[in-house]
Amino acid sequence: MTCHNCGGELEKVIVDLPFKVEHNSIIIIKQLPVLQCQNCSEFLIEDTVMKEIDKILKNVDKTAELEILNYV
Ligand SMILES: [Zn+2]
Repeated sequence: MTCHNCGGELEKVIVDLPFKVEHNSIIIIKQLPVLQCQNCSEFLIEDTVMKEIDKILKNVDKTAELEILNYV
């Protein structure tokens, strides 16, 4: 896989990423496996990982202003 931004090489990395789910609610998912461009640092989240993120965000308590979860 190559970067859609610059065509550089993508490398699998583990990161913590914040997702905004509601007006006031931010979910931080830790230990997410994503692809990062070694050239321009652009992130790419694979479809399978994105589906898992969707599931996590659907089940999360949206009344919390900030929630920190682990991606497993
Ligand atoms: Zn790039």
